[in-house]
Amino acid sequence: MSYENPITGDQILRVGPVNPAVAAILADEFQATVLPGAEERNAWLEEHGTRIRVAVCSGKIGVDSDLMKQLPNLEAIVNFGVGYDATDFGQADQRGILLSNTPDVLTDCVADTAMGLYLDTLRGLSAAERFVRAGTWASGQNFPLATRATGRKVGILGLGRIGQAIADRLEGFKTEIHYHSRSQKEGAAYQYHASAKELAEAVDVLIVAAAGGPDSANLVDASVLAALGENGFIINIARGSVIDEAALVTALQQKTIAGAGLDVFAREPHVPSQLLELDNVVLLPHLGSGTVETRADMTSLTIENLRSYLKDRALITPIS
Ligand code: NAP
Repeated sequence: MSYENPITGDQILRVGPVNPAVAAILADEFQATVLPGAEERNAWLEEHGTRIRVAVCSGKIGVDSDLMKQLPNLEAIVNFGVGYDATDFGQADQRGILLSNTPDVLTDCVADTAMGLYLDTLRGLSAAERFVRAGTWASGQNFPLATRATGRKVGILGLGRIGQAIADRLEGFKTEIHYHSRSQKEGAAYQYHASAKELAEAVDVLIVAAAGGPDSANLVDASVLAALGENGFIINIARGSVIDEAALVTALQQKTIAGAGLDVFAREPHVPSQLLELDNVVLLPHLGSGTVETRADMTSLTIENLRSYLKDRALITPIS
């Protein structure tokens, strides 16, 4: 389709750092504009903000409330990543700004990461590796016994695309699967619980796979951790904001839960210093989707969304 008012490179804004392959395509194929850093940003936006019609961002940076207000003619936001909680979705919706993300293509890798954390956390694999490297095994000591990973009761908080892929993998570990989501899933063979707390009470391991954002902030609070109990484990591959991080640190320090496996944190890349001292927590640097293959698929889908918007004024994977 051809438009009287086609979108040109100076109307496409790259917001913050994005995946290097996306950045290269934005520069080479689209001659997109890059939003300047904090010091020059406001002056630049005052002068050029009105001309921007499409923004491309990472899920981490997003287009926040203030920036969106400074882009009065924004029509579409193309988000690299499935999570879009850094973008002010409410304002976008109100203003009729379209938003796309990259669902499905990263589901398997994030679910694999959850399984890595599940096994590592229950069996203490990272701690055991540190034990070998420190020469403690060679000095004649034995590594402490861990917790059996097969046959456990596991609760999935957020049975969406990634939650379901985690459940599929867990079936191979002869687990009994329970879940809580905003809505009960018709046809799901797993036991539904009406709240995060009820789910935590029913299981040995709680795996957090719920979308981030204002609705799910601190969904796992001190009372949910207390319900999980001293033999319970928690795994988080979703967003740091879903767990009350201070309550989690206290629970791990006081051993009112048995352990945690975390790929995500409340204020990344900051990891609470207390966690660095503890052996009952496995810490990863938000690498859930971080494989060469998946990042290439996410890049393709991001660029396809942009091309589609420029050509047809429609996104391929819009968030409704
Ligand atoms: P999805 O299919 O949209 O699933 C999200 C699930 O979260 C849905 O089941 C939804 O419930 C549930 N949920 C949302 N708000 C909730 C609330 N307040 N209480 C209870 N459940 C709630 O998304 P996805 O593709 O599975 O991705 C899930 C999340 O994983 C993303 O939003 C992102 O933050 C995170 N993620 C992390 C990484 C990483 O690198 N670690 C990578 C990719 C994604 P309903 O089904 O009832 O709506």
